Amino acid sequence: MKICRFDDDRVGVVEGDAVRDVTDAVAAALPLVRWPLPIGDLFIANLATVLPAIEAALPSARSLPLSGVSLKSPVANPPHVIAAPLNYPLHVQEAADPAINHGVHMPAHDGFATPIDKYGLFLKSHTGVIGAGQKVILHWPGRRNDHEVELAVVIGRGGKNISRDDALSHIAGYCIGLDITVRGTEDRSFRKAADTYSVLGPWLVTADEVGDPANLDFGIEVDGEKRQRSNTKHLICDVPDLIERASRVYALNPGDVIMTGTPDGVAEITPGCTMHAWIENIGAMDVRVA
Ligand code: MN
Repeated sequence: MKICRFDDDRVGVVEGDAVRDVTDAVAAALPLVRWPLPIGDLFIANLATVLPAIEAALPSARSLPLSGVSLKSPVANPPHVIAAPLNYPLHVQEAADPAINHGVHMPAHDGFATPIDKYGLFLKSHTGVIGAGQKVILHWPGRRNDHEVELAVVIGRGGKNISRDDALSHIAGYCIGLDITVRGTEDRSFRKAADTYSVLGPWLVTADEVGDPANLDFGIEVDGEKRQRSNTKHLICDVPDLIERASRVYALNPGDVIMTGTPDGVAEITPGCTMHAWIENIGAMDVRVA
């Protein structure tokens, strides 16, 4: 199932070029909560009851043209947005360019098995997350702001010290992630966590519909120009590995997002351009830059 959040926080199921509005059924299925709120995204945490409610509501749900709605991030309240640096071999190679590493974020990982063994993972701010229908607003005009297209994993069932063998069973679904980045000397958590610098969309595709996350073609074009092309089979640390590594440090919660890293071809975006990002079995989204 492809589940989107759109317009004034409505919930829809995407079927071809249509959105079926199931907002009322979702609201009825979610528990009422009060302060202090449980950590995690309420919708994702309750998927086991929400999904059957959506199924039951679908036959009579109002249908809207997909082109007429404004898509928000399918995960409304991700507690963590965890991200992997330097996780595709050809991106590690291209990151030797000083225009990308600025003499600080060096791709070299001598003595370590992988770049992530050296650098670890990093956090992006959940408050910087937007959806496909919102605009990326560049915070450092005049500097090189790049697109990074990535497979984004949405955790369904939380846990600590999740083993590689159990990892896939903790996934609710997937979406496309754009890890927008200004190149420079600052820490990743500063350069990559500005407001609007984390795009998730266009919708959440439940894990059963995506299949094996280790073999998905994906890419991005900017104003029609081919920029990045790869397949998740080239990940240095694959999805189960990233879940194992992340959950050793952060107890994972429903709605946590793991952005798995970007392949080669990172390049500049400028105000007025449109990014077209796509991942096999998930979909495609056009995101504008302001
Ligand atoms: Mn990235």
